Amino acid sequence: MAKFVYMFNEGNSEMKEILGGKGANLAEMTKIGLPVPFGFTISTHACNAYYDAEKTIPAEVKEQVMESLAKLEQESGKKLGDPENPLLVSVRSGAVFSMPGMMDTILNLGMNDETVEGVARLTNNPRFAYDSYRRFIQMFSDVVLNVDTYYFEKLLEETREEKGYTADPELTAEDWIEVIKGYKQIVKKHTKNAFPEDPTEQLFLSINAVFDSWNNQRAIVYRRLNKIPGHLGTAVNIQSMVFGNMGEDSGTGVAFTRDPSTGEHTLYGEYLINAQGEDVVAGIRTPQPIKTLKDEMPEVFQQFSETCRRLEQHYRDMQDIEFTVERGKLYILQTRNGKRTAQAAIRVAVEMVNEGILDKKEALLRVDPDALNQLLHRRIDDNHERNQLAKGLPASPGAATGQVVFDADEAELLAKDGKKVILVRQETTPDDIHGIVAAQAVVTSRGGMTSHAAVVARGMGKACICGCEAMKIDLHEKVFQIGGTVVNEGDIITIDGGTGEIMLGEIPMIEPELSEEFQLLLTWADEIRDLGVRANADNPEDSAKAREFGAEGIGLCRTEHMFMDSKRIPIVQDMILAESFEDRKEALDKLLPMQQGDFEGILEAMQGLPVTIRLLDPPLHEFLPDKEELIVETTTLKITDPDSAELAEKEMLLKKVRQLDEFNPMLGHRGCRLGMIHPEIYEMQAKAIFYAVAALAEKGIEASPEVMIPLVGHVNELKQMRELVVEAAEAVQQEKGLTITYTIGTMIEVPRAALTADQIAEEADFFSFGTNDLTQTTFGYSRDDAEGKFLQTYIENKVLPENPFAALDREGVGKLVETGVKLGRQTKPNLKTGICGEHGGEKSSIEFCYYTGLNYVSCSPYRVPLARLAAAQATI
Ligand code: ADP
Ligand code: MG
Ligand code: MG
Repeated sequence: MAKFVYMFNEGNSEMKEILGGKGANLAEMTKIGLPVPFGFTISTHACNAYYDAEKTIPAEVKEQVMESLAKLEQESGKKLGDPENPLLVSVRSGAVFSMPGMMDTILNLGMNDETVEGVARLTNNPRFAYDSYRRFIQMFSDVVLNVDTYYFEKLLEETREEKGYTADPELTAEDWIEVIKGYKQIVKKHTKNAFPEDPTEQLFLSINAVFDSWNNQRAIVYRRLNKIPGHLGTAVNIQSMVFGNMGEDSGTGVAFTRDPSTGEHTLYGEYLINAQGEDVVAGIRTPQPIKTLKDEMPEVFQQFSETCRRLEQHYRDMQDIEFTVERGKLYILQTRNGKRTAQAAIRVAVEMVNEGILDKKEALLRVDPDALNQLLHRRIDDNHERNQLAKGLPASPGAATGQVVFDADEAELLAKDGKKVILVRQETTPDDIHGIVAAQAVVTSRGGMTSHAAVVARGMGKACICGCEAMKIDLHEKVFQIGGTVVNEGDIITIDGGTGEIMLGEIPMIEPELSEEFQLLLTWADEIRDLGVRANADNPEDSAKAREFGAEGIGLCRTEHMFMDSKRIPIVQDMILAESFEDRKEALDKLLPMQQGDFEGILEAMQGLPVTIRLLDPPLHEFLPDKEELIVETTTLKITDPDSAELAEKEMLLKKVRQLDEFNPMLGHRGCRLGMIHPEIYEMQAKAIFYAVAALAEKGIEASPEVMIPLVGHVNELKQMRELVVEAAEAVQQEKGLTITYTIGTMIEVPRAALTADQIAEEADFFSFGTNDLTQTTFGYSRDDAEGKFLQTYIENKVLPENPFAALDREGVGKLVETGVKLGRQTKPNLKTGICGEHGGEKSSIEFCYYTGLNYVSCSPYRVPLARLAAAQATI
């Protein structure tokens, strides 16, 4: 018989697939002797069996549950439903991958009109017994019977008001008895049935509900967002209850072993005295920081800190721990590797190496390259005045500006329109996930550092402020008020998640810098990686940034941006419109010194590191005015001023624009085809490069240009362009009387180039795979059309696994890259190869580049740190 149920002392942390994350860790903690209330786990296989049996619990599973329950009863000396000595349990879902807040937990199961008396007697605390019972009714009704918590909360609020109480602890046992009566009426009214009093029935109904919650809307959304497969199923943990609501010597809390925002090695978390379970996370009462536990319960605090240390040592990672104190005794209810910001991930990894917990390679694998993006984001410029409205808890660092929205759907809608929004809520629930995804940042007026909003935002690397109690939100009017200031929906605010400040209006931001730990981690990455990292940059500022972030050269310097400069565009247009060779030459002569200046700046910034300069690539019409506009202008002039020189000029221009018009510019007259037809353009650019090198040489500055010919499809194209560049070099060398070191290579970005790479390598010193165009030409997609029209549908329908423009398509485009490298090196074993498409900054593509034997990847300066780390991870 298949085993579907495991006692906590039968499992371990390796069994996540079967026991779910929570169950496996409860078993592990039991194994190492930590104070975990005993229980058992119904496996994920049972969940799948439940779905296979059309949502009924198979008899086999039921049997095993009953057997395990008997063991639990024996171990605890209590019995489910026994009025004399009742066992109470929690029913906790737990999937393989942690899905915080996605599934529902039921506490105090086993309570009914009889057992509550038993609990009251045994604990000598009727107030506690009835409070626990009413909590059970409320949770069970919400999760299992689908009766909204709202009705219960409303009744409770009415009772409080009637009695003149401000908080729940003021309610007496008699008050709770009354509330329970009311609760049962609510259940009766909404379900047409009495509240189920039979504990075994309660248990199985709850198990059903946990299994069902695997497929509730918010779980599905969460899985989609986090790419968690739906077939895994969830486990169910049945665990004997311990009680944090037994009085002033009891409590419940959540803590991280290190600060999940900054990574600082200090206990971080919060707790509530005389409270149960979800009270802390739900943000109903604002909890106390863990530090004060030291004064309130010194012994418990001591024991807790030790347990934290032990768990960290055991799991070799920062832990996120849920605990409860019952009458001064500590219990651990959950542990898992804590979610953290990128900043924290780096600091924790580096410090754990220093503490001897991890080695460098392990530390490098602990940081997700994708998460680095959040660190390289801009932050608020300290030189500007902060128009501070209020301060909340700094729950997730980063700064953001956007318009205020109060609703997740609205946030999503506006974001789709390209608006930047900040989601403002009293608190968030899993139903708000899509709004958090769409927003730049989240602000809540209630809840602590471990509230839902805080946890989710940190996980996504979004700025977040929680528990900003000064903020009075009126969802009806769609405004919030802080002191005398009223902020309406749509107003712009800026927030700083690192300080908790909320500010009115937009505040200038500044560029990021790398922290010391970050730098250190990256030097470890550099020690380990074999793959070079360069940057794509086409001006001195970006080049400097690239070097600062650790780029070892420039892999792609595009020259077309230099042509777009507003002062130059008229000269560029003159060059394009020239009717004679002389006219064209005149324009080019004017452009040459400008280009030379560009190259000098970039080469100087790179201080002798290699700089791959691509000669002009886009179709020429991109430099001319828009055709439709010209038609309108000439038509207007024909009526208003038919004899003007302006009209004649515009008509000329229109004629030329029409000549240059192409049916399919992406496959038209561009790349080296420009140089083939107008060699004087490439000649000017080549000379500008060499003059720049000569000028720098005079100043004693080294430069290593690599001249790159784009869009070659046939070796003869490269051969001809190579001759042209060599001639330019010779001319400049002769004129300046010096020797210039340079190389000439090509971009491999059409399939024919990859397929004939052996021939092309005869003329090339290096290959740079231009995977943006190579993806377009391999798939036959024009990117702009594909991404706008059908690619999304393809991905949603799983026609394509991923957007091939984001992550390199290994099977198709990748095969061409492999072929290109292999054939090229057949001809020239030391042929230098790199990649310069956007894939150069994407981790799975970087891994592919490493396996394919490329020498380097090149990406935007801001992605250089990511690429250094991803390259190291690929090597490990
Ligand atoms: P989630 O996955 O949403 O965190 P959990 O199953 O961890 O849900 O339960 C939430 C909280 O309920 C726990 O942090 C703990 O405080 C409380 N809880 C769960 N089981 C027990 C138990 N057996 N005794 C006391 N409290 C419990
Ligand atoms: Mg939990
Ligand atoms: Mg290209």
